[in-house]
Amino acid sequence: MDNAQIADRLDALASLVELGDASPYATRAYRRAADIIRATTTPVAELVRAGRVRQLRGIGPGIEVRLRELVETGEIRELQELERELAPDLVGLGRYLGLSARRSVELARALDVRTADELREAAAEGRLRSVPGIGPKTEALLVEALAREPEPRPRQGLLLNRARELVGTIAAALGGEAAGDVRRWRDSCELLAVVCAAADPDPVLARFAGLPQIVALVEQGERRAVGVTVEGVPVELVAVEPERFGTAVVRATGSPAYVAALEPLPDAPDEEAVYRALGLPWCPPELREAPFHGEPPPLVQEGDIRGDLHCHTTWSDGRASVEEMGRAARERGYDYLAICDHTPAVGAVQGLTPDDVRRQADEIAAANELLAPFRVLRGIECDILPDGRLDLPDDVLAELDWVQASVHGGQRMPRAEMTKRVEEALRNPSVRCLSHPKGRYINRRPENALDLEHIFQVALEEGVALEVNGLPDRLDLRGEHVRDALRAGVQIVCSTDAHSERGLGNMTLSVATARRGWATAADVVNTRPLHAILRAGRR
Ligand SMILES: [Zn+2]
Ligand SMILES: [Zn+2]
Repeated sequence: MDNAQIADRLDALASLVELGDASPYATRAYRRAADIIRATTTPVAELVRAGRVRQLRGIGPGIEVRLRELVETGEIRELQELERELAPDLVGLGRYLGLSARRSVELARALDVRTADELREAAAEGRLRSVPGIGPKTEALLVEALAREPEPRPRQGLLLNRARELVGTIAAALGGEAAGDVRRWRDSCELLAVVCAAADPDPVLARFAGLPQIVALVEQGERRAVGVTVEGVPVELVAVEPERFGTAVVRATGSPAYVAALEPLPDAPDEEAVYRALGLPWCPPELREAPFHGEPPPLVQEGDIRGDLHCHTTWSDGRASVEEMGRAARERGYDYLAICDHTPAVGAVQGLTPDDVRRQADEIAAANELLAPFRVLRGIECDILPDGRLDLPDDVLAELDWVQASVHGGQRMPRAEMTKRVEEALRNPSVRCLSHPKGRYINRRPENALDLEHIFQVALEEGVALEVNGLPDRLDLRGEHVRDALRAGVQIVCSTDAHSERGLGNMTLSVATARRGWATAADVVNTRPLHAILRAGRR
């Protein structure tokens, strides 16, 4: 059993435990363990057999017991019981149709149906209304939803990292290409698609239906199917003749407007051939939003990045030490890493006082002795107080190599007030970058009212950069705003805001977001060498 298979079973367990009455903590712990196992290079089954699996950070005794069971017997009994009891295919279908998981389970029990097909049958026979709690209105909605040509969109967009994981795993299992929103690196993914080249589509369609991630099919044609996950997220599969594979990938990748402007698409086996036949230069997927026929600019690449300028350590809410973070950044091939822990006003977690900042300087100096010529920079993520003042005295800020200014509390301020607050902070000569400027959490908190156009002007005057934060639920600035910033002449920084060594990997998401904003390497501050970062200091 390989790491991906083990991780899949833990994810399945997480999804089903979530439906039961277990604490949300258990669900999160299983998901986190699945992520860790997927990212681990050592075979986890061997670690389990050797009794060493708890050496992986995030694997506690409860998870170890289940891992041992899985490795020794090939199954987790609790998971099998939950699958029997909860009918994941009905839950997936129910969620896709707009029912809660609990309601789906109740429905399955009351009607004694075990599969999506049986549910359709029950609906056709008019048996839905016999279920307590299902009135004529819900019945009508369900019957209609079951009959309708389904629109393969989730009820809420998926975070990019989760969508990439899901679509990437399915594409890899089928030997296909991940397409749809994931391939354009959208911040919230709705169209999840996989394209496979297959002269005979039947085996691919059958394998798709049998994947552990797909609990039910909501649609099946000759060369196309839509399956749903237990979360009710639809994934579309297109199995196309090999000679038209490129055409199908172009069609499944671009936004509807982008694709429509290219139609009619010529048949071709790969994307390059499609663009050649159209007489157009190849277009990076990130730019396939609005219709575009020109020569794309040379977009920034992850390999251009020389260092990460925003991360946390155990001094605030990070999980690794200064030295561990520095070492991990050096292993990524970077030349520098700025440690930007929080200041006290952030509230929920511990923040650094002026004394702490100076004590941390010693630790950073010690790390630099060990890691040279790699350089750990003294930085801070300094809260912007409600009145625009910064959360540390000017003389402390002036000592530092890199200062991020951040709004955390009070994101709901009215536009004028918020803009004035941030402007005030950016006027401080020590500030080098504004963190996560719009303050959103995707699916959880809307963007703040900050007037970006005004802030761009201030940033230009002060030589301050704007961050493209790579946390999967932030991705802030988002692509459209990056493009606006660059048009205004403002520089951006691609940062991870990592809270662990692994978090440094979110540079991929930050760079992809910058690329969606048409950024080239010259637009991104941290593509420059260390001396340029230090010399570019504003004093
Ligand atoms: Zn922050
Ligand atoms: Zn941060």
